Parts: sequence; structure tokens; C-alpha cells
Amino acid sequence: MSDDRMLVFAPLRVEEACLPASVRRNARVIRTGMGRRRARIAAARGLAVADAHSVAVAGLCAAAAPELSTGDVLLATELWRSDGATVRVPGSGMLAAALRRRGLRAVPATVATVDAIAGPAERRFLAARGADGVDMESAWLADAADGRPLVVLRVVVEEAGREPGDPRTAAAGMRALRELRKAADVLVEWRDALRQRTILLAAPRSFCAGVDRAIEIVELALAQRGGPVYVRKQIVHNEHVVADLERRGAIFVDELDEVPRGATTVFSAHGVSPAVRQEATARGLDVIDATCPLVSKVHAEARRFADGGNTVLLIGHEGHEEIDGTRGEAPEATLLVQDVADAERVQPPDPTRVTYLTQTTLAVDETEEIVARLRTRFPALRGPASDDICYATTNRQTAVREIARESDVVLVVGSRTSSNSLRLVEVAQRERTPAYLIDDETEIDLAWLASAGTIGLSAGASAPEALVRRVIDAIAALGGAHVEERTTTTESLRFRLPKEVRG
Ligand code: SF4
Repeated sequence: MSDDRMLVFAPLRVEEACLPASVRRNARVIRTGMGRRRARIAAARGLAVADAHSVAVAGLCAAAAPELSTGDVLLATELWRSDGATVRVPGSGMLAAALRRRGLRAVPATVATVDAIAGPAERRFLAARGADGVDMESAWLADAADGRPLVVLRVVVEEAGREPGDPRTAAAGMRALRELRKAADVLVEWRDALRQRTILLAAPRSFCAGVDRAIEIVELALAQRGGPVYVRKQIVHNEHVVADLERRGAIFVDELDEVPRGATTVFSAHGVSPAVRQEATARGLDVIDATCPLVSKVHAEARRFADGGNTVLLIGHEGHEEIDGTRGEAPEATLLVQDVADAERVQPPDPTRVTYLTQTTLAVDETEEIVARLRTRFPALRGPASDDICYATTNRQTAVREIARESDVVLVVGSRTSSNSLRLVEVAQRERTPAYLIDDETEIDLAWLASAGTIGLSAGASAPEALVRRVIDAIAALGGAHVEERTTTTESLRFRLPKEVRG
């Protein structure tokens, strides 16, 4: 679409003057004038500009939210019309993030379009209902989009408590216009990213049985016992999941000495060492164990092998909670192997009595390489009866590998702390496809998408499906998306809940 034109609305001459040449070059700019009546006339003119592939509104606004300052850039996610209608503007989070990367203070925002200049009292009223900014045109101008991609960019000139006409507004206006000039340049980046795309959606993706169970345990504990419920470490490695449970009353702690004696405490899906269990008993904590049963299985293997006089070569990543927990089962008998180089140099006391175990969330092919190297060095090497890399990790890696082969770029939804999600990125990259980890749609860099017609999309085992949907909506907002789900296998595994929360 980048050869086509953009339609840009700027309410006033000073706002129009802020549009950089890079925007004007491929834009039809319409100066709308202020207020509802003029905005509606301008929208009708905009509708008639049939060769414009996208519509942007760029101008100033007043703040409703008290935390906003002069010069803050609002990217509207929702526009409220004075007749009660709401216009959604998906994908704005990506533009806000693009502006933050350029050093501007930019936020996705709800903008209320009002019929007359709003004073502090009306803005307070609107803020109480969830509005961040106030203007007099945007929601009406949005009519001109009529299915075309839309972006509404407004820079705060008047802060929430300030009266219109306050003498400080002139200086604020200069500052806001400077920021508008800088911010408007992002419209070029946005325009270059606009095109119809195919999204190849990997399946399986997102929550596994262990994560589902761990989250349900915290939810049930909160519902059955009321707050607070303490959770040692992140229940699963996802920022959104943790923030959501925090809002509902869970308190996340790093160590048990932060938990009041006797309090309800949940152990995370990644498991804990026996030393942590002992500490919980000593503090009289009311423990609910959300350790994934597949992690517990590895713990049991570590105990069994160590009790049998073997050295356990534990393949995994230093510092990962799962590794800390498993190693804690037999610390004297366990040696960590992080990569092939470690496999080359590890020195067990008796090379004829060695076994290996693995973290559940490793890359399957890399682990095979490490095990092969260990087997060459220690022909008597034994291993677990069945693979420790869990079904969910394996299935998600197979699925992402399939879509990566056909994609121009792969996006994996997941947090940086999620080993499972990081491995999905690496698997896609090994197929020579650029791949990126994103916590949500706001972390998508428009530049990744500019030349991508086919986008592969997956999510780590700890990332909620709702975030995948948000990513799809954001990509679709850049000119449309045809979604094809590619299923490599289906999953039906469910784990039984611990007795402490069973109804
Ligand atoms: S990724 Fe595997 S081991 Fe980890 S919680 Fe999910 S099912 Fe359990």
C-alpha cells in the first residue's frame, strides 16, 4: 500500500503546519476547522477521497487524566462521540510504542470528542469515566475512515486542571506543537506498514495443562479463602498473568521470609527444592503446591538416580527456577550442563555412573545435540524413561517450525522470563526466519512488518490466548489480515487439581 496516499486531517492551520514533509509527500491533507459541524463536513470530504488507503488525524487536545502533561502524545484506542457512540481504533498501542522508541512520551488513550471547549470540571467528569484526552473533532472525523486503517494522534496542550485561556497555555501550545511535529513523523512508518496480510497461526500455542492448572489453583485459592494469597515467584512466567492475579488479590514474593507466618502460600508451576518445602513447614505456612506434575516427575527422577549412586547431569539454564528446584533434590550429586561446551568439559566423579535429566522447556534439537555429546563421552550414560522435555514444549516447537518455513517474520507472544517462549523464537530463527518475542501487541515494531506479507504467530505455554487475539487485531488494523490456523497436533491433557482446592 505504500505507493498510495494517506488522508490526514488537521483541525487548525498551526497543526497542519506541523506535518513534516515526509508525511505531506504522500498525503492529502484536509484542514478541518474546529468543532463537530466542521469535522462532519471534513469527514464527508474525506469519504470522497477514494484513492486514500488510510486516514490519520493529527492535532492537539486537552488532558482529562490528571497524570498527563503538556507534550504527551495520545494515540486513541477509543473515541467517544457526544451522541454516545464509541469508535474503536485498534492497533494504536503499536504506534505509541513506536513513538516511545523515538523518545516521546506516548500512550494509548481514550479520547472524548465534545461539542464545546471543556473546562476542568467537565474534564474531571470525563476522566472519572475513563477518558484520557478531550478534543472536538476526532470521533466525527473517524467516519471518513469507512473501513480504511485509522490512526488518531493528539498531543496534550492543556493539562487536566488548567482553565482554557490560562496565560500559561501559550507557552504550553508552543511545546505541544513541537512534540506534534516530532510525533507526526511516525505516520510515515505506519503508512509503510500498511498492507493486507496473511497470519499463519501455530497450533498448539498458548497455555499448556500445567499453566492452566497453576492459574486455576491461585484463582480457586482466592475465591475459596479470600485474599491475601501469597505466591512464591511468578506463578507462571508471564507478566500479564501475574498482573491480573495481583489485581485479584494475589501477592507475589521472591522468598518465603516475605510471607507472614501461617499464610496461604502457593508454590509456582516451576517447582521448589526440598529446602523451600522445609522452610515453609518451619514457618507454618498453609501450602498449596502448583508445581506442574511433569516437573514433579523430573524431581522424582533426580531423587531416584541420585539415591542409586549416580551423578545427575542436569541439562538446563542456570538461574531458572525449575533448575533450582530440581537441583535442590540432590545438590551434591547434580552437575549443571547448559550447552554443548559444558557437555564437553563436565567431569563427573565416576564416568560409569551418570544419568542425564533435562529442564522441561528446552529446545528439542539443541538438547539432542547435548545428549549426543554426553553419550559419546560417557557410553554408560542413562536417561529418563521418557523425555523430560514436556509434551507442550515439544508440540509448540513443532508447530512454530512449520509456520516459520512459510512466514516472512514470526512473532511469539510471551514474556522474556519464559524459557518456553524464548525457545520458540530460537526454533523459528533456526528456520532462517526473523522471529521476535513480544509480551503483547504494543511491542511489535512496525519496521518488522513493513515488508512482511505472511506473519507467523505463536505463543509460549505461559501466554494467554487473549494476547494472541490482541496481536491479530493489531495486525489486522494495518490493512487487514487473513488468518490461517496450522494445526500440527491437538492437546487434551488436563491435570488433577491438588486436594487443597478441589471442591
Ligand atoms: S511447559 Fe510443560 S512442564 Fe511447564 S508447566 Fe507446561 S506442561 Fe508443565
